[in-house]
Amino acid sequence: MTSDIIVFPCLSDNFGYLIHDPATKATASIDAPEAAPIIAALRQKGWTLTDVLITHHHQDHVGGVAELKQMYKCRVTGPHDKTAPIAHVDQRVREGDLVKIGSLAARVLETPGHTLDHISYFFDAERALFAADTIFSIGCGRVIEGNAAMMWHSLLKLRALPDDTRLYCGHEYTLANIKFALTIEPDNAALQARAAQAAEQRKAGRPTVPTLMGEEKKANVFLRADVASVAAKVGLSGKDAADVFGEIRERKNRFS
Ligand SMILES: [Zn+2]
Repeated sequence: MTSDIIVFPCLSDNFGYLIHDPATKATASIDAPEAAPIIAALRQKGWTLTDVLITHHHQDHVGGVAELKQMYKCRVTGPHDKTAPIAHVDQRVREGDLVKIGSLAARVLETPGHTLDHISYFFDAERALFAADTIFSIGCGRVIEGNAAMMWHSLLKLRALPDDTRLYCGHEYTLANIKFALTIEPDNAALQARAAQAAEQRKAGRPTVPTLMGEEKKANVFLRADVASVAAKVGLSGKDAADVFGEIRERKNRFS
């Protein structure tokens, strides 16, 4: 049995996601940036919200939870509290836990770095990864609460997923990410191809997600800190991949 996944914009640049199980009619929202577009998407599809899967405590990921819970009496799943508590959570999960959405199952991957509580949800059978602010297409989240080594370890965990995994990330940052990535790897053919594809997608008013992990592994410079030519490019040949990653992340922070 396959699932239906829909993508729609929320706030200024967040993605809203619904995953629906046709067999049981169960429907989950991945995070809840704001309630209104999620409710509109549910109504348009004729679906009823049964679950919200929260990835981390930032307001642009949980801002709509209270309203959705009140309206649908849905079950809210989220990470264990670390730096900031998340309200309205019914079930707290950790690494390896399975969350059932009807007959669908999401495996919890702890991916700290952007925040200490950040988790990602991987639907094994659907090959669908919801990674919020850990990895973006051709980018990754800012390392706000963790450190570079922690974030690199989280990215390695996601990089180990199958190449045909569809990545659904938290924000539409792809074009800006590509602009930066090209400063490190101007000759990367996979990155150049992604640049052309993403420009076309945005021109047509379409989202740049999902993207395939297999493509990200080739084109996303933040997943490539252990590639010798990338380390050389940032002047850290032979250095630890976590340090190379940290340097790339620092350069992205300064990039405008
Ligand atoms: Zn965030």
